[in-house]
Amino acid sequence: MTTNIRENHLINMEQLILPSKTDFTIEKSNFQLDYLAVVVSHMAAKSERLTQTTSVTRAIMADKLGGLEIPSCDVCGKAAVVEQAYSGRVLCGHHLAKSIRKKVAKELRKQLILKKGKHTTIFVAISGGKDSAALLELLVDILGVRPDVTIIAGTVDEGIEGYRPPSLQCAMDLCETLGVEFVTVTYKELGFEEMDTVAELIPGMKAKNPSAPSMPCSYCGVFRRQGINHLASKIDADVMALGHNLDDMAQTVLMNMSNGDLERTLRLAPHTTTPIDGLPPRIVPLRWIPEQEVHLYAVHKNLPIHHEECPHARGALRWRHREMVATMEADVPGTRHGLVRMADNMKELRNQILELGGSEKRPNPPKECPVCFSMTSNNRCKACEMRDMLTRELDN
Ligand code: SF4
Repeated sequence: MTTNIRENHLINMEQLILPSKTDFTIEKSNFQLDYLAVVVSHMAAKSERLTQTTSVTRAIMADKLGGLEIPSCDVCGKAAVVEQAYSGRVLCGHHLAKSIRKKVAKELRKQLILKKGKHTTIFVAISGGKDSAALLELLVDILGVRPDVTIIAGTVDEGIEGYRPPSLQCAMDLCETLGVEFVTVTYKELGFEEMDTVAELIPGMKAKNPSAPSMPCSYCGVFRRQGINHLASKIDADVMALGHNLDDMAQTVLMNMSNGDLERTLRLAPHTTTPIDGLPPRIVPLRWIPEQEVHLYAVHKNLPIHHEECPHARGALRWRHREMVATMEADVPGTRHGLVRMADNMKELRNQILELGGSEKRPNPPKECPVCFSMTSNNRCKACEMRDMLTRELDN
């Protein structure tokens, strides 16, 4: 069975994670729309690389002047929202959400060790975006009933005009809807420059010091990590939950491989039983869920999410790896899973070596930063180094 869609309907492409941001219209229909099916169809029509939906793309191309033919859900026969090339499954919004919940619950059983008789506070880092919104909703759904678990969410405000205020609002709305306590901290409060200022200072710093990072995200990533750690420590969290999806994880593994950075691969979350550098263990329950499916989940659950892209995001190294991973996945479905599994296997191998009596010699064992006391492999932590560089530039 296929569902034919002919309807006046406008989708704002900015809501989707796509290279292009063009509005797209489907015309003339009396059929009821499955909003999600249309979203996925649009995604497919706009990007050949979204391999999960390639047959939907073909259907659109074949039926351009008429309606859209949407494949049916494997389970219930309703209009599908996703075709998973990596698994061969075709699912509607309801059954996709069900399968995501099942996968996340399974992953939580592996990643989150709840000790009997001990209360556990989970800090969920949320940004107002789709990934962390889906993560928080799922954690509340799966763990919210447990009396031995408290979930608190928080956002770090980087000081990005036009981007952070509306996304912060989405994060607060989500917490209010879910009944979750919300905490926040600004870069200013942490002693860092706001990101809009950092972006303005970069050209000057580069001119004086060519080795200074040239992309805003390089600074922001370091400062935000400090912000998340600060919030987690403020609420005395036992665990930090991050919304990294399968695409994020695969990109990180590939980036680490490109840099020959074995140590970072070994330190990749989930940490579960091995807290890294004195911080509460980080868990990543969405790590097997592709980005597109997380987005569909958030839309299906009608979560308040902010769709705009950060104005400083473009050009970051991650974007190139994002493209590479998408291309590899399109050519060989399952590549993302393979990359993440490879990192897991390396960690497992390290554990086996330790069990056999081997010792873990990190090239630069972590020590306390003399300025802010956070753990670092260098004489001073990266955040303090960057803060000083920015201060010098501002004083000039
Ligand atoms: Fe910060 Fe880069 Fe993310 Fe913008 S895209 S919030 S600059 S890390």
